Amino acid sequence: MIIYKFGGTSVGKPERMHAIANLIQADPSSKIVVLSALSGTTNSLVAIGDQLIANNKDAADLLIKSLKNHYAEFIDALYKTDAKKDEASTIIEKYFKEIEALALIPDFNHGNNKTLVAYGEILSTNLFTLYLQELEVKATLLDALDFMRLNEEGEPDMESISANLKPLTAGGGTYITQGFICRNHTGQTDNLKRGGSDYSASLIGAAIDADEVQIWTDIDGMHNNDPRVVDNTRPIAHLTFDEAAELAYFGAKILHPSSILPAQTKSIPVKLKNTMAPEAEGTTISIEGTEGDIKAIAAKDGITAIKIKSTRMLLAHGFLRRVFEVFEKYKTSIDMITTSEVAVSVTIDNDQNLSQIRKELEQFGTVAIDRNQTIVCIVGSMVSEKKGLVKLIFNALSDVPVRMVSYGGSRNNISLLISSEDKTKALVNLHEGLFK
Ligand code: ADP
Ligand code: ASP
Ligand code: MG
Repeated sequence: MIIYKFGGTSVGKPERMHAIANLIQADPSSKIVVLSALSGTTNSLVAIGDQLIANNKDAADLLIKSLKNHYAEFIDALYKTDAKKDEASTIIEKYFKEIEALALIPDFNHGNNKTLVAYGEILSTNLFTLYLQELEVKATLLDALDFMRLNEEGEPDMESISANLKPLTAGGGTYITQGFICRNHTGQTDNLKRGGSDYSASLIGAAIDADEVQIWTDIDGMHNNDPRVVDNTRPIAHLTFDEAAELAYFGAKILHPSSILPAQTKSIPVKLKNTMAPEAEGTTISIEGTEGDIKAIAAKDGITAIKIKSTRMLLAHGFLRRVFEVFEKYKTSIDMITTSEVAVSVTIDNDQNLSQIRKELEQFGTVAIDRNQTIVCIVGSMVSEKKGLVKLIFNALSDVPVRMVSYGGSRNNISLLISSEDKTKALVNLHEGLFK
């Protein structure tokens, strides 16, 4: 079984849906096709939810109307026959009625919002399955809400996903399902966070022991730097699971941060491919790798640095444990850490509980907080053992103030913390210094 995942831009225009229908037909293997919402839809649904939470019903209604118009135009160009256009209209009417009913809930809350944002993937998969019917391609639509589950910790419940999904797909053939959406442990609609369809594809692959997971997007694979920030980046033909996981976690937007681990656990190769250029080689992510090369640079924004300074730390044991316990208590994970004799600096990307964390840390000493930080990370197997690399990095960053450095924690990664306003300069200069 092959898992095909198509992202928002790959389904976002009628002609793109035509192209992906051709792509999956060209492969006779049994497959599960995981779709995102049409590009822009999840953003619109999030905006509608924001208005409803803020009690701006009129503004929400306008946004709903405009989204519905978008779908009316979309189906007109997607299907050839009037019969299928009519069936698609009925689908749109049905789901927009449900969306309108949600918008009438008096105290619209975050739980309702999760139900609302799920309609993006529900619409795209229903419309695509209907298009395959028009082409007379046999395909079965599977409702992800019937098999994708989170446990009490909010993490995917692999055992139940696998037990639910295996019988549904045992017959082989072509299945279509939604990325991103799932149910939580109480059965309510939930999701795998923004960009989560990649994660769905990897979880589905692991759940049914697929042969390969293919992530189809709008670029020809993982590039060696962020193509939105740096010119002349190029695709990387091969990455190890560890390298890809580090790049995804540290900001390479092409992959959801958690999307590598499920496939890696089952050693299922992951391919990144371009829907607009299917003949391009793309990136293959697997267990094999070459050591010693710098593969890529990535950057993760929205980081907060916290420094705890205390003379009590000097020669004291148990100090770090007490500091970490505070973060554990507030379920906040730490990305980077550096220490000196009298201070420890850590970074977090989830600042939801920052004020309580700060208050508790203040019992140990002075606490300083810097927001708007960016982690820049240089990734490659055994990269930390490459002679002369540190010199190249610091030469490239000679006019960028570096707030923290993490070296040697992993052999695959060197991370630096800088102010977000220096990010473009840092990525461009590192690209010059490391890849030219
Ligand atoms: P999809 O909608 O298919 O999930 P995304 O927008 O989530 O697509 O991811 C693809 C985008 O990721 C690319 O268009 C590119 O701008 C961005 N991107 C960021 N960093 C990288 C990188 N290192 N390599 C490739 N693409 C990257
Ligand atoms: N539609 C969701 C989002 O825009 C999930 C995804 O596209 O991966 O975040
Ligand atoms: Mg994505």
